[in-house]
Amino acid sequence: MNAEKPNLESITQIVVLGGGFAGVYAARRMEKLFARRDDVQILLVSRNNFLLMTPLLFEVCSGKLEMSACSISIRTFLRRVEFIEASVQAIDLDRRTVLVSSEATSQRELRYDHLVFALGSLTNTSRIDGSELAFTFKTLADAILLRNHIIERMERAEVESDTNLRRRDLTFVVIGGGLVGVEVFGELSAFMDEVLRHYRRIRRDEIQLHLLEAGERIMPEISEQLASYSARVLSRRVGVTIRTSAPVERITPGCVHLKDEVLQASTIILSAGTIPSPTLAKLPLEKDRRGKIQVDATMRCKQRPELWAVGDCASIPDPDGRPYPELAQHAMREATVVGENIYAAVNGSPLRPFVYKTKGIMASLGYYRGVAAAMGIPLRGFLAWWIRRSYYLLVTPRMPQRIRLVVEWTLALFLYPPLSKLDLNTEREMLRRYAEIERLAREKSAANPKPV
Ligand SMILES: Cc1cc2nc3c(=O)[nH]c(=O)nc-3n(C[C@H](O)[C@H](O)[C@H](O)COP(=O)(O)OP(=O)(O)OC[C@H]3O[C@@H](n4cnc5c(N)ncnc54)[C@H](O)[C@@H]3O)c2cc1C
Repeated sequence: MNAEKPNLESITQIVVLGGGFAGVYAARRMEKLFARRDDVQILLVSRNNFLLMTPLLFEVCSGKLEMSACSISIRTFLRRVEFIEASVQAIDLDRRTVLVSSEATSQRELRYDHLVFALGSLTNTSRIDGSELAFTFKTLADAILLRNHIIERMERAEVESDTNLRRRDLTFVVIGGGLVGVEVFGELSAFMDEVLRHYRRIRRDEIQLHLLEAGERIMPEISEQLASYSARVLSRRVGVTIRTSAPVERITPGCVHLKDEVLQASTIILSAGTIPSPTLAKLPLEKDRRGKIQVDATMRCKQRPELWAVGDCASIPDPDGRPYPELAQHAMREATVVGENIYAAVNGSPLRPFVYKTKGIMASLGYYRGVAAAMGIPLRGFLAWWIRRSYYLLVTPRMPQRIRLVVEWTLALFLYPPLSKLDLNTEREMLRRYAEIERLAREKSAANPKPV
């Protein structure tokens, strides 16, 4: 029979901020737990209406995967949760409201009884001067823009006769030798080999790829043994230079400044650490030294029991008091436990701490090579690469999405990656761009008239 609808004031409203691994999985867990509770409403606010599978982003950049293979529609994944595509503008902790805005709805104020921060992190651009000149590698747009840019450099170099400009176009620098930096680097080096056959005037040894790491070794997240294997595998590739203990001092247009050298490169990719979402900066909450919200082991804020934080924006202590790392595998598991703890809090039951021992860590080096430490067992080469791929296939939500992945991966085994750029210009922008190119060319030829 039709149960009476509870009045709006008596509804417990749970608002989750952020549609990444942490936010989506927390909302997913809660929609299951509260499935029969009409007096509980769950809202999820995020800038994009998709969950980005970041571990697959490298392959989108190299064209092995289509964009849709690494973005999962939040609406189709969550059934009962109300999804709002909007940006979080302000949070009033005393009034317990969140102000969100989007082009479609302009501004809207959301009341909450429980608020979950799952706003993730951004690339840290404050460490190195001129970081805004480098490409970041965090979002789907980052991957597409970088791909377009790399292909554009290859096209330019193919027709460029000036040796210096050609060298600059064919020099690629990745700053940061952590897992993400190394994976971008590995995929990039493999991509170069695959597309080079279409550029008859570019020799492979003209392409220079530099990986710069400030620390003493690359991949501090994994064992020294696996990290040095990775460095060996990558260094064997043509044109590859890996430098450790090489902090970048600054970036200027087309140049990376090291202590003893200036590298001229028109492609500079920054992957040197992250900072928590700036939305948190103004909130008067306890933070760790990096600005992440400090929560207890149940992921609840000590000062305000209605606030919770998970994923990259949270500092969650492990049983030894150390914060858990910024990894998707942690974010997803934290999310499940935070969902259960909020359910317990609403019901007045005891909460449980989040305790998780990393099952393993994996990285792809491109060319069907990888490294992995699974259950403490170090793996390398094809096996590690295959395990990584299979793992991400299994954790990818929704069967249609997995089928899509398998099809695209299978095709990529037999076909070369597509070389076409993704045209992001409108017709008007395209005309403006070519008018500008023509103007510059006219100015150049007026300054250097051809001898008669
Ligand atoms: C290229 C890359 C590869 C990676 N590979 C791996 C891997 O192989 N294995 C692994 O374990 N981890 C990997 N990671 C790390 C992993 O992606 C993160 O740890 C994980 O995404 C953290 O999840 P999160 O939900 O906390 O944050 P995010 O996934 O960053 O999600 C945050 C969400 O909040 C939204 N948001 C932020 N601010 C606002 C705002 N003001 N208003 C509205 N919405 C907002 C964002 O749009 C985003 O949807 C990788 C990361 C990158 C960048």
